[in-house]
Amino acid sequence: MKLKLSILLILGWAPLTMALPIHNPVPGGVAVLDIGEAGSATYNERPVMIAKHATGNVAVVGIPLSAESGQHRLALETGAISFEVKGKEYEIQRLTIQNKRKVNPYAQDMDRIVKERTEMDTVFDSYTDVNDIDLTFDVPTEGIMSSSFGLRRILNDQPRSPHSGMDIAAPEGTRIIAPAAGIVAATGDYFFNGNTVMIDHGQGLITMYCHLSRIDVEVGMKVRTGDLLGTVGKTGRVTGAHLHWGVSLNDARVDPALFLTKESL
Ligand SMILES: [Zn+2]
Repeated sequence: MKLKLSILLILGWAPLTMALPIHNPVPGGVAVLDIGEAGSATYNERPVMIAKHATGNVAVVGIPLSAESGQHRLALETGAISFEVKGKEYEIQRLTIQNKRKVNPYAQDMDRIVKERTEMDTVFDSYTDVNDIDLTFDVPTEGIMSSSFGLRRILNDQPRSPHSGMDIAAPEGTRIIAPAAGIVAATGDYFFNGNTVMIDHGQGLITMYCHLSRIDVEVGMKVRTGDLLGTVGKTGRVTGAHLHWGVSLNDARVDPALFLTKESL
């Protein structure tokens, strides 16, 4: 309740014209900031999402997991505002991956890994002008949340990047739907992520679906909320069948749970 109250305070108790994600200014979180009349803003020199409200504009800022706690700066056309990022310690998660090549790739895998990383980074880095973006997501698949965002991962006793999404365990073949409208920006069979779909929702908001058994969309396709993207699988680096669901905002991977304000897992 405290978080919801702080959003209302920021917006001055005005009626919402557009639903927003939960304001949670921590590494891997989202800051929802009142910017008054300003029509654009940048954070770490990247354009950020602007939601228009009757009482003024709101910047919706993704905060990277690597962010330091303390005062952060949002640059506007006329000056800047600062906001506080609070520290957050994510727990450690140890996993055993049977396919050791997915933890310690062979030398001949590196070209493929680098090429795929570039392809995904290009999508994460994109900013397309779209208005009326739906920021209250549907859950993309029916299942059980098996691993939450931000966990500091140790795979086969070796430290690896923190968990950049939410895992939802479900039987292979379970339907995965678009949680909001967007355009399919990439699909592929990636070394670590397996069969993958990336959706561009506009203004730097990108979602990603990994380890699919089947992909049902193609690059360039428009999807609406509820459209079928593919089915749950166990392709790529996995311990079992699940959906890895990632959300990225201004190239910062953020907690998908902050967008699940309609219903919770
Ligand atoms: Zn995952």
